[in-house]
Amino acid sequence: MAKEITLDGITKEYGSIVAVNDVSLTIPDNEFVTLVGPSGSGKTTLLRIISGLESPTSGRITIGDQDVTDESPQDRPLSMVFQNIALYPHMTCRENINYGPKIHGVPEDERNERAEQAAQSLQIADQLDKSPSELSGGQQQRVALGRAFVEDPEILLLDEPMSDLDAKLKEELRVEFQRLHRELDATFVYVTHDQNEAMTMSDKIAVMRSGTVEQFDAPETIFHDPVSEHVATFIGTPSTNVLECEVDGDVAQLESGTVSLPEAASNEERIRIGIRPQYLSIAGGDIEFDVDIDVIEPLGIDYVVHTTTVEGNREVNVVTEEVSDLEPGDTITVGAALDEIYLFAADGERIRAPITRQTEV
Ligand code: ADP
Ligand code: MG
Repeated sequence: MAKEITLDGITKEYGSIVAVNDVSLTIPDNEFVTLVGPSGSGKTTLLRIISGLESPTSGRITIGDQDVTDESPQDRPLSMVFQNIALYPHMTCRENINYGPKIHGVPEDERNERAEQAAQSLQIADQLDKSPSELSGGQQQRVALGRAFVEDPEILLLDEPMSDLDAKLKEELRVEFQRLHRELDATFVYVTHDQNEAMTMSDKIAVMRSGTVEQFDAPETIFHDPVSEHVATFIGTPSTNVLECEVDGDVAQLESGTVSLPEAASNEERIRIGIRPQYLSIAGGDIEFDVDIDVIEPLGIDYVVHTTTVEGNREVNVVTEEVSDLEPGDTITVGAALDEIYLFAADGERIRAPITRQTEV
């Protein structure tokens, strides 16, 4: 049985540092939810508060229909996997995996059966009788996961479990995590600073910044409909391009002409325009500007064309499939459709009203 987790106005202060600032969040039963954000944004603190290893300065935590705010970690129905793999070096992998059930008095036969099953799922069945020091980092992390799985937790908390692994292993484990989430009937709360991990594995992503959750949505919504410049630039690779331009009444002056702004934007002195590199086109668009090509980077099918705007000297990336006519040093015109750009106020907040029309100069 998985369990829903409700955080209600959670704040955690360490002296004058506010590590988590008034976070309210409902993590649905049985979902894979990722807390993502830059280092220091409060992800670990929030996860430790859910686990009971830290208590909040204020706010309540409910698991299922039970208020667990004052319960110790052992009394909460959860397991945790940390970044630093802490296996017992003098025990075999099997003994490491079996340790929790052994403490809880699970009979040996059943313990072994559970360990075998976890090891099968994690593809370490042939490593069970080895000592941890004989395994690679990735295999050790799988043993650490196995240890959490045999507890059959209702909630599994994972704090950057892959950050010490190489790219290939991360790719393998990403798939594994999703498969295990399906197999285990458990709610997963996964912490990472890697937006790519967040995008590929999660049912829902909470994007954190300075102790707050800025947006909590499905990956597609986070990508296509960000609430702020922070979310738009943190999620997606390459990062969303941001241009700045002056506002005069209800129009903004761009290189390619003047665009009419929605009323919501007309109080701003300057406006910030966000364009995803995937939506910026070498064929031009409603909004156009000139850039100098710096570097062309092949990704396989696509290329990232790294450029600098001729006016304003800003770094702008374009993702495109066709680069045969392009060379570093060239000046080209790039553009985007009006319905594919984001408007941000000076404070980074998204202005949702659309840009309605463009007037030529
Ligand atoms: P993240 O996991 O997103 O990198 P953390 O939750 O570890 O962020 O930290 C959030 C903020 O709280 C940081 O500014 C960090 O320095 C501070 N912090 C975390 N734990 C403690 C602690 N035990 N004592 C003092 N400050 C802490
Ligand atoms: Mg952390």
